[in-house]
Amino acid sequence: MPGALHRLVRMMTFPELASGLGVTFKWFHKPKVTEFYPDKRPVLPYRAKGRLHVDLETCISCKMCERACPEDCIKVFQPPKEVFKTDKRPVQFFISLEHCIHCGMCVDPCPTGSIHHSQEFEMASYLRNDFLFDKTTLPYDLDVKHFKQGILENVVEKGQ
Ligand code: SF4
Ligand code: SF4
Repeated sequence: MPGALHRLVRMMTFPELASGLGVTFKWFHKPKVTEFYPDKRPVLPYRAKGRLHVDLETCISCKMCERACPEDCIKVFQPPKEVFKTDKRPVQFFISLEHCIHCGMCVDPCPTGSIHHSQEFEMASYLRNDFLFDKTTLPYDLDVKHFKQGILENVVEKGQ
């Protein structure tokens, strides 16, 4: 009988409803934390590791990034020996972002600072080929500016 009475009291007073409403009212006047992506672009942290970009004009085909990559995502093709003496820029440069884990291990050993993470994070695609970048599809000069600008904006905004 006490059990039935207890159930009846609970049914009459709706404690779960009261508890839920309490949480709602508690957060009602607090600032909203939801981000309205994609209408409002998020400001990424200063050290966000987005899509890799390579400056193929300053790259000297040393293959340090290729050797450092734990996922074998990078393949650099040096020019023929006779050309290499005067022009060290790669004849081909592949990056497979399908397998890239954004660890940054290719960035640190680069002697010319030619490879870096951008703040570009929208990389979804239905096609596997979209993740394989070569010399013609690796955008660099525009994105380097965009990357540097992105850092600057973050530094200013976050006071870093
Ligand atoms: S970020 Fe890491 S996994 Fe991606 S290409 Fe560079 S070294 Fe390889
Ligand atoms: S480490 Fe730098 S300079 Fe060397 S191949 Fe990679 S991107 Fe080019």
